[in-house]
Parts: sequence; C-alpha cells; structure tokens
Amino acid sequence: MIRRGVYPGSFDPVTKGHVDVIERAAKLVDELTVGVLNNSAKISLFSIDERVSMIEEITAHIGNVKVSSFDGLLVDFMKKLDARFVIRGLRAVSDFELELQVAQSNTLVNPEVDTIFLATNLQYSYLSSTVVKEFASYGGDISHFVPEAIIDRVYEKYGFK
Ligand code: ADP
Repeated sequence: MIRRGVYPGSFDPVTKGHVDVIERAAKLVDELTVGVLNNSAKISLFSIDERVSMIEEITAHIGNVKVSSFDGLLVDFMKKLDARFVIRGLRAVSDFELELQVAQSNTLVNPEVDTIFLATNLQYSYLSSTVVKEFASYGGDISHFVPEAIIDRVYEKYGFK
C-alpha cells in the first residue's frame, strides 16, 4: 500500500519553516502532495499559480513531493488523491486548539484520514508568512525567513528591487 500524505496550507509565501516540514514529512510517507489552498475569501499576496510554482521550485530536490492547488474541503481533495495522512506543523500552543478541531472534524467526515502533527523546528518557531510580509513591506531583511530563490519575488510585490 502506498502511503500518501497531504501538507495543506496557504503558503503565502512559503517560508523556511514550511520547507523544514516538507523535508521531514517527505520521509514519513511514500508520496507527499503540498496542497496550496485557493481560498477566494482570503486576500493573498501571491496568486495561486505563483505560490504553486515557488514551492515546486524549492522542493525540486525532493523526489517524492508534488505540489497542487485545491479549493473546497481538504477531505475531498484527499479522497481525489487517495491520500490518508494530513500533515500539519505545530509552532505553539496557540496553534493547537484550532488544529485539533480541524483534525477531529476531518476524521469524523472520513475515518480513514489521520492527521500527523510535526513540531516546528526550534529555529523557525517564531516564523509565519505574516511575519515575512510585515518585514518585507518595510524593506526589512527576510533572508532568515524564506528560501533564497523567493526573496526578490517577495520584495517585488512591495515595489522593492
Ligand atoms: P494556514 O493558513 O493553513 O495555517 P500556512 O501557510 O500559514 O497555512 O501554514 C501551513 C502549515 O504550516 C500549518 O500547519 C502551519 O502550522 C505550518 N507552519 C507554518 N509556519 C511554520 C513554521 N515556522 N514551522 C513549522 N510549521 C509551520
């Protein structure tokens, strides 16, 4: 049986914390799909296509990782991929309550689905896409936060070169 996992999120933009989770999750399952949520209710800095292609670029070195956008319910996306495992990262206690609710709801809807929580690498526990955008909007240094290949693309969104 092939163990398939999905790592869902907004990835607006992808951070070094996300990459760390992707690299670790790829070792836990046979096939990992990074699912980029196309949430029309949320205003994003990067378009869905930009987010997908940035993640494709920075995960190209990992053989069993695919990147795909999705909208609607995660459980439906998982069914389409025949995937059983949801991967989520936990940074702090504040992440926990909502993550637990979502995980339990998903399993209720589809008992085949299990969520695997990966504790954030201590190095990135403070890091979120929101922090990246906040720094970049003032032209601040984001080299600690996002992969090298992403830096200029974030600055460009704020009119910095
Ligand atoms: P969402 O809007 O679904 O929370 P994000 O792109 O913010 O999407 O996050 C996607 C997933 O990555 C979530 O499980 C989140 O907890 C996790 N994550 C975000 N930042 C980090 C980090 N620095 N270290 C580990 N996991 C993280």
